[in-house]
Amino acid sequence: MNSKLPHLETTIFTVMSQLANQHQAINLAQGFPDFEPHSSLIESLNYYSYQNYNQYAPMIGVEKLRNFIAQKVERFHHAIYHPEQEITITNGASQAIFTAIASIIEKGDEVIIFEPAYDLYKPAVEMFGGVVQPIQLKYPDYQIDFEELKQKVTSNTKLVIFNNPNNPSGKIFTADDLIQIESILKDQNCYIISDEVYEHMTFDGKEHQSFARIPSLKERTFITASFGKLCHVTGWKVGYVLAGAALMKEFRKVHQFNVFCVHTPSQYAIADYLDDENNYLELNDFFQQKRDYFVKGLSTTKFEMIPAEGTYFVSASYKNYSPLDDKSFAQQLTIDHKVATIPFSAFYHDALNEHVIRFCFAKQEETLDAALERLNRL
Ligand code: PMP
Ligand code: GLN
Repeated sequence: MNSKLPHLETTIFTVMSQLANQHQAINLAQGFPDFEPHSSLIESLNYYSYQNYNQYAPMIGVEKLRNFIAQKVERFHHAIYHPEQEITITNGASQAIFTAIASIIEKGDEVIIFEPAYDLYKPAVEMFGGVVQPIQLKYPDYQIDFEELKQKVTSNTKLVIFNNPNNPSGKIFTADDLIQIESILKDQNCYIISDEVYEHMTFDGKEHQSFARIPSLKERTFITASFGKLCHVTGWKVGYVLAGAALMKEFRKVHQFNVFCVHTPSQYAIADYLDDENNYLELNDFFQQKRDYFVKGLSTTKFEMIPAEGTYFVSASYKNYSPLDDKSFAQQLTIDHKVATIPFSAFYHDALNEHVIRFCFAKQEETLDAALERLNRL
């Protein structure tokens, strides 16, 4: 068979979760909570299923949910996105990102990606013939080198993919960073995807800076988000995309035949649940407490922590433990010590090995305790 993607391997999240299951390891690898979502959300899902909200939802998403998103973006970022023309509900942020890429990328288009990068971006670009131009965010502070960005953005650049708060580094880019990006891109013709799935997981009083705050680029920017993260239901795969009306029109041309619409009762249930703003405003404190607990528990180990400003991941160099490459180390940690993590090389086009692994701390205290106990015995 002539594979379209001959070099692509199974995503690291599947690989490490399978390995964790096979060896009964604690799974701090793939990013998902191991605690229950709020019971009111589950009750609401049941309610809408029993009330027969079981047929196709509107192609662009349930109105109540789109209205909620429009109000939230206006409230937090003072930006106006029209719920009919500029907001679409998607099958998670993944489909939003993939469909956005499908709607604009043609053969030979250059796409700038900041690495370490979420593993979906590069293959999605390449599937449509795009060529990735990576820019490395350097260990340990993962700041953007704006001079390099200036040099790499050319008339061939079709798209820049930006992720804030950043998975896997835990970095939060500031208002000033966004302004610098704006000044570099304003005279260019390229599009932007700003992947903001961790927008409500920011710590130590740091505020999320959405690309919605850059109105001069609105007509060229897709902003993607995930209710899986916001409501602790990663398995529901509901997210959304914001874009200027003309750009959204192109997005929907693909979306309508790619998925048509998203699971109906979930959309109603999420809209009801988020009516209570505490259900998402409390996330910063909730996850900050988990981060602090986990990082404190690791302070007695020889891991060198990379500060996590946001997301539900924290990463660390393990070089005081082992000279192994990060994939081998993560495998050994899973098999021999029963704690699964993600090796950072999975987030680089050239599998760069910096002896760093990523832990997901979106777990119950008992899970974190058990993992910490094992990690402290290393
Ligand atoms: N972008 C980033 C940075 C992610 O970490 C994830 C994983 N949640 C996604 C996109 C995909 O989100 P979803 O599960 O809603 O498809
Ligand atoms: N976003 C999750 C992570 O970074 C994983 C999503 C997936 O498994 N595809 O761990």
